[in-house]
Amino acid sequence: MADKRGVVKRLIDGFADLPGIGRRTAERLAYHVLNMPKEQALAFADAIRAVKENLRPCRTCFNLAEGEQCDICADSRRDQTVLCVVEQVRDLLALEQAGNFRGLYHVLQGRVAPLEGKGIDGLTLDALAARVSQGQFREVILGTTPNVEGDATALVVAQRLEGLPVELTRLARGLTVGASLEQANREMLVDAFAGRRKF
Ligand SMILES: [Zn+2]
Repeated sequence: MADKRGVVKRLIDGFADLPGIGRRTAERLAYHVLNMPKEQALAFADAIRAVKENLRPCRTCFNLAEGEQCDICADSRRDQTVLCVVEQVRDLLALEQAGNFRGLYHVLQGRVAPLEGKGIDGLTLDALAARVSQGQFREVILGTTPNVEGDATALVVAQRLEGLPVELTRLARGLTVGASLEQANREMLVDAFAGRRKF
């Protein structure tokens, strides 16, 4: 609390730290907050606090969850036989936004990057293998980014799941080789699913 900046300055600095927000825009947003109804502003502040204090990795899939399990794992209407493996929560959110995948996910929490010397440390591969070993999935879709690191990551996943009775597929490359899933638009992601092929 010993922050000597004034509260308005702190608010402006907070906005200016966000990606894609310049100083002028940060000032505009801060003054917008000053003019907001109190309840609306407090609800916004509360949402920021809640995501930092209440969210943790889902015990099952490592998506963000408010409790033990995320909303997707807890949703029995989702196809329990198809699993899509992604690098990070952002990718999962992009695929959910596209809205055509109705199966379950597994978030690796990273990727391998051979050129940067980044191996499998920290990836949730053990948990993935344990899930798939249980035999509920007929297909595992390798939904890693369509670039060198994503391909290397898909290979590592495939090796770990080798011998398990499940079909491995890879998302089609679509129009944007090298683009991250979150940069892809809805049609590209729908196409990527529709065109997935055996790995
Ligand atoms: Zn989950």
